Amino acid sequence: MDGPRITTVGGRGWDCNQYLVKDAKSNAFDLVDAGHGLDFERVLGQVAAVMDPKRVRSIVLTHEHLDHVNGLPHWRQVGARIVAPRGVAAKLREGRDPTSEMFGGRIVKLDPDDIVGDGDHVRLGDRDFEVLETPGHSPGSSCYWDAQSGTLFSGDTLFAEGGIGRFDFPDSSLPRLYESVLRLGKLPVRVLHSGHGSSLGAEDAARSVAASVRHVGQYHSG
Ligand SMILES: [Zn+2]
Repeated sequence: MDGPRITTVGGRGWDCNQYLVKDAKSNAFDLVDAGHGLDFERVLGQVAAVMDPKRVRSIVLTHEHLDHVNGLPHWRQVGARIVAPRGVAAKLREGRDPTSEMFGGRIVKLDPDDIVGDGDHVRLGDRDFEVLETPGHSPGSSCYWDAQSGTLFSGDTLFAEGGIGRFDFPDSSLPRLYESVLRLGKLPVRVLHSGHGSSLGAEDAARSVAASVRHVGQYHSG
């Protein structure tokens, strides 16, 4: 069976990758992450090349850093629902995130429409992805997993080429990142879409996740 239909938008400079996932039956799309918002016009153009942006049904967030959430007000204006993991929702309600502030920015202050936690499912395109809470890079970090197609949206928890999220931020945690990456390492990942950098398919994805597990282990034991 075919995997989900995914188009990558955004991702220029320090902006995060944003992934459009298509639901062909209802001609609707869901978007993973909102980007930093400074590139919104360009992102909107990329989205419009694929579909009517008004068909974006929801924005599903991987974590609370400003390069992933500050585009939210634009999307809310377009009419999309905002879906946030518990830890992300708490930060958005306050409009405060110490890591984003360390970089000289502030995160947007808003109330998400839906709040999800570990083991819940979120609609992305035409399938239900499982929410995996993977704290470490940030307290609210979460991944989205479709076991049927082996598709993982990993946010900034791990990246292609064995990369792992930064854990030197004010509220990041190496022990928690270690546990989270190990958890992802147990999944039979066949498609990897992370918050920055390139996406991977098939053996490359599995190899890369295994390399991330080794990578985080070097720091954790050292
Ligand atoms: Zn981040």
